[in-house]
Amino acid sequence: MILTTPLIERLAREGEVHVVATPANAAVLANHPAVASVLVYDKRKSDAGVAGLRRVAARLRATGATTAYMAQGSWRTAALARLAGVQSVGFDTSAGRWLYSRRVVYRTDWHHARRLWALASDPREPPGPLRPSLFPGPTDQAQVAALLDAAGVRTGDPLIALAPGSVWATKRWPSYDALAGDLVARMPDCRMVVIGAGGDAPLAAAIHAAVQERGGPPVIDATGKLSLLGSAALLSRCAVLVTNDSAPLHLASAMNTPTVALFGPTIPAMGFGPLAERQHVLGREELTCRPCSAHGGLACPLGHWKCMQDISASSVAEQVERVGRAG
Ligand code: SF4
Repeated sequence: MILTTPLIERLAREGEVHVVATPANAAVLANHPAVASVLVYDKRKSDAGVAGLRRVAARLRATGATTAYMAQGSWRTAALARLAGVQSVGFDTSAGRWLYSRRVVYRTDWHHARRLWALASDPREPPGPLRPSLFPGPTDQAQVAALLDAAGVRTGDPLIALAPGSVWATKRWPSYDALAGDLVARMPDCRMVVIGAGGDAPLAAAIHAAVQERGGPPVIDATGKLSLLGSAALLSRCAVLVTNDSAPLHLASAMNTPTVALFGPTIPAMGFGPLAERQHVLGREELTCRPCSAHGGLACPLGHWKCMQDISASSVAEQVERVGRAG
């Protein structure tokens, strides 16, 4: 959804944009000036089954929309457009492509934001601005202010954000704690803050322990404490983010937060690299087994997990210092 925002902005130049989204994704678009309305499609609960699909289709028809751009390529969303009586445009690789009015080539050599943008554009046109955009509201900002106040952070104090989590185990770089210990010596004026889901709290605790061991100040644990837009608001306050190939990378792109991104079983050429102006990607390019899956798996199929194990904490710390200090 975050990478869809350049497409949404492009379409908003021509008319109202109504977005169909899951409950989780709907929240990400709150306050976005290019979005006229968000139609929440809760396909697992209140809108489950064919009756739910018909209800959402009726709501979509009522917006007066004429064309649906299929950022999400399932047969279900294709059927939704059909039921709503609107034209549909989507990728030629999507599961729902047989139902589309028009199919667009899925360019494997483009960033995904550009692929999505091209759904509504002549592919020969140079792309418009591709950095995504998010708009945290007053509640999100207040969440962040309360968190930082409680941690004794003052306006202007430099912050380094660490996002050690990922749904996929093989995407989780295992040395965030060693990195944090290294950064205490390299960037002693900075406080560290850990962002992520509630389940990432043990990772935050390990990072805090490593920093304490080196005599650094307490690490701020924001895991599970902020909404997605709250995390975006926090990132806009940070000098640099260190992240795996996961959602915080895209939040940082939207807030133009300098980013050091660590790629293991996936590679940026798949279309999901960072888009912040200042960024650096680290990955073991010499490994011929990369990439080994579309999303990263739960275990390394070769057993050695060298794509992540062999990224050293000192090489990451060096880039954090370079990217974080460049501004
Ligand atoms: S097979 Fe290679 S790319 Fe995949 S998880 Fe293992 S080391 Fe990483």
